[in-house]
Amino acid sequence: MTIFDPGLTQPVSRTNSSTDLNGTTASLGVLMGHVFRRSSGRGWRLRRRSMELWPHWITKLRRFVPDLALQTPLLQVAGDEATRVRFHDLAGQRQQLGLTTLSAAELNGIWPGAEHGGLRSEQDGRVDPLKLQQSLRLAVGELQVGLVAEPVEAVERHNAGWRVWRAGGQHDDFFAVVICAAMASSTLLAPLGHDRPMAPVLGQALRLELNNAAIDWHHWPAVLVDQGFNLIPDGPGRLLLGATVEPGTEAAEDPLALMRSLHDQAPDWLRSATVVEHWSGLRARPVERPAPLLEHLEPGLLLASGHYRNGVLLMPASAEWIAAELNHNLLITGA
Ligand SMILES: Cc1cc2nc3c(=O)[nH]c(=O)nc-3n(C[C@H](O)[C@H](O)[C@H](O)COP(=O)(O)OP(=O)(O)OC[C@H]3O[C@@H](n4cnc5c(N)ncnc54)[C@H](O)[C@@H]3O)c2cc1C
Repeated sequence: MTIFDPGLTQPVSRTNSSTDLNGTTASLGVLMGHVFRRSSGRGWRLRRRSMELWPHWITKLRRFVPDLALQTPLLQVAGDEATRVRFHDLAGQRQQLGLTTLSAAELNGIWPGAEHGGLRSEQDGRVDPLKLQQSLRLAVGELQVGLVAEPVEAVERHNAGWRVWRAGGQHDDFFAVVICAAMASSTLLAPLGHDRPMAPVLGQALRLELNNAAIDWHHWPAVLVDQGFNLIPDGPGRLLLGATVEPGTEAAEDPLALMRSLHDQAPDWLRSATVVEHWSGLRARPVERPAPLLEHLEPGLLLASGHYRNGVLLMPASAEWIAAELNHNLLITGA
């Protein structure tokens, strides 16, 4: 097996004002699996499966990065009465999955002003995407996997398999190819006659240092979601806040300001916090198809991309799908 990715030689890290990060490094790693609003269909099945697999993944990957953790729970704030009712129904249906509702009074200790209460999900939460990738790299290092730190320029049919052309002009032949290059996936597939356009949706995120308040994170969930923004305690006096959802590739000031003020509802301690890190990244959103794109396009040609806003959450289920398709492919061709 061989992995081609020009990012393989770069360390898995963010520096202040990073703008050239891959989606996973830019992400916050929030896992909103059990709070998904639908209860049927592929999206729900993938989320449930990922949430089942995450604890096993973390146990295995801890061997490489011991402080990798599944940080739980996740608490979602209801913005209006209709959402409160929806949360109430969802908690009723998913008690066994660890969903419960919280009243405004119960939320008051950590998030005053949440007058419609919220939804607490015991098993949803977060995984640190940097530690996750570091552990995956170390795990791959123990397997017989070739690592090529060059971009793939083209994939073409060759005999019964696939020829992969590197930007440097070299090529390698494979029995099966999995394309998971985010926005670049469309470019690689187009010459093969597979039209899978994706639109970039930029996200900005912040690491904040609180100036004048000693917030006791012990009472906080791993992730608090309000108005679609995630607030993630990140050690004493520190918080991650993200992410904006901005169609296109340019980071704008307005969505960032709206996020920082939570549409004018942020508490003073949050408004007055200092930005110590600010970064952005692109999400690949499939055009006119639901995310993610998990498709076996031709024998030995797989697409696993377009995860849009949930690529970290869906990583285990997507990986399981890829493994099953590859095994099936090998079985039917008798290789
Ligand atoms: C700000 C932000 C916050 C987010 N927060 C969350 C969150 O909380 N939870 C969540 O689940 N998701 C979140 N996401 C979404 C999530 O990050 C993505 O869905 C996911 O990371 C996509 O993973 P990927 O592997 O498909 O793409 P990427 O992580 O972007 O990786 C694509 C890889 O392909 C490589 N590549 C590109 N072109 C080529 C080529 N020609 N040849 C070889 N390799 C190539 C790149 O170098 C890169 O390493 C967030 C995204 C952003 C931007």
